[in-house]
Amino acid sequence: MYNSENWEKAAAFHGHKCGGLAIGFRAAEALKERYGAQFADDEQIVCVTENDACAADAIQAILGCTLGKGNLIYKPLGKMAFSFYFRESGESVRIYFKGENDALPREQWMDWILEAPTDELFTFGETQYPVPERARIFRSVKCERCGEKAREDKIRLSDGKTLCLSCFQEYDR
Ligand SMILES: [Zn+2]
Ligand SMILES: [Zn+2]
Repeated sequence: MYNSENWEKAAAFHGHKCGGLAIGFRAAEALKERYGAQFADDEQIVCVTENDACAADAIQAILGCTLGKGNLIYKPLGKMAFSFYFRESGESVRIYFKGENDALPREQWMDWILEAPTDELFTFGETQYPVPERARIFRSVKCERCGEKAREDKIRLSDGKTLCLSCFQEYDR
């Protein structure tokens, strides 16, 4: 039986209940059950998500892996997979959703994901990329065209001027 309090928490964050959210929710709950994960108030857990779909919102709500803290990293691979890294222990796991949805109507699909045994939903494998470095603090540099400040590593030089990426014209031939 799933933790309905956490499910409501994920739904409140995401805005609605749906099958995709349920996938992320079950992945997050699996990480708690099998790896003793707790809500990360700092960068204790880092998640590399391979999708930017509904499921990723459950990861943020339940595990505290968020864009702003720098412990949610998006790799646009279009797969329903999440890699988790525990900073302290060095442990890591990639959780891939393998469920098939062809047979079930939408409503039942969500319920099935919520209730199905963990091993019917996911495979647990080795992570495929090294642990992401800790969130860095960068100096800000003022763009000489628009006057707005941007992170140092996002500044380009053009005609000897420092420009932000919005003002910089990419030379891509
Ligand atoms: Zn959704
Ligand atoms: Zn600019």
